[in-house]
Amino acid sequence: MRGCVLVRGMRSIDVSMPLHIGMAAFPGDPAFESSPFRSIARGDGYNVSRIALGTHAGTHVDPPLHFLPGGASIDEVDLARLNGPCRVVRIADRCAAIGPAEVARIPRGTTRVLFRTRNSARWEASGEFFPDYVAVRPSGAAALVARGVRLVGVDSLSVENDPSGAFPVHHELLGHDVLIVEGLLLAKAPPGAYDMRCLPLRLRGGDGGPARVVLTPRRPVRPGRRAAGGRGSRRRSGRPPRTPGR
Ligand SMILES: [Zn+2]
Repeated sequence: MRGCVLVRGMRSIDVSMPLHIGMAAFPGDPAFESSPFRSIARGDGYNVSRIALGTHAGTHVDPPLHFLPGGASIDEVDLARLNGPCRVVRIADRCAAIGPAEVARIPRGTTRVLFRTRNSARWEASGEFFPDYVAVRPSGAAALVARGVRLVGVDSLSVENDPSGAFPVHHELLGHDVLIVEGLLLAKAPPGAYDMRCLPLRLRGGDGGPARVVLTPRRPVRPGRRAAGGRGSRRRSGRPPRTPGR
């Protein structure tokens, strides 16, 4: 990601799922719940709600402890791993699973990659869980590890869609200390380079962490040129970054 700068005035994109009653949950996970605990409408002096949710509700981070006994819990994950330059990679709508061919198109040197698949448009359309979501194949996970990727983000509630119950993708990634971010909404994030902010809840010993994730577009800067950001560039702020091989 060298050669990129944060462009002043570029708008950040919130790619987190709103948490609300009735939201999609991964099958078998607890449903999100919220109820008034103190309520002005009921005569209390203030509003406070009680919420209940799974540790993998909505947009969230999978730490190693999710699958590896004794692995790092969410509060032990170094936030520097979750925050910094990232790349949104568009996966063609016809693609049903992310394999080595898709991984091969990730720009060299990318350490954080977020895959925008057809899932993102489906979340926009309905918000309901769909079992035929696009996810990473085991061979794709091995390719990600081999390519030196350290964080993988997906726009599905699980990084894998494996009916065997063996969870080979989670094991491959977490076993190689690759962090996983699931449940991203990337429909409004064009492919390209971004600065990622990802802050999971500091759950002590947590096996997962619901997170707010925000992307700020970056723009490649040619060697010898100063970063854009003056008056002329302001007009273009908010436009998606252009990347080669898009
Ligand atoms: Zn998870």
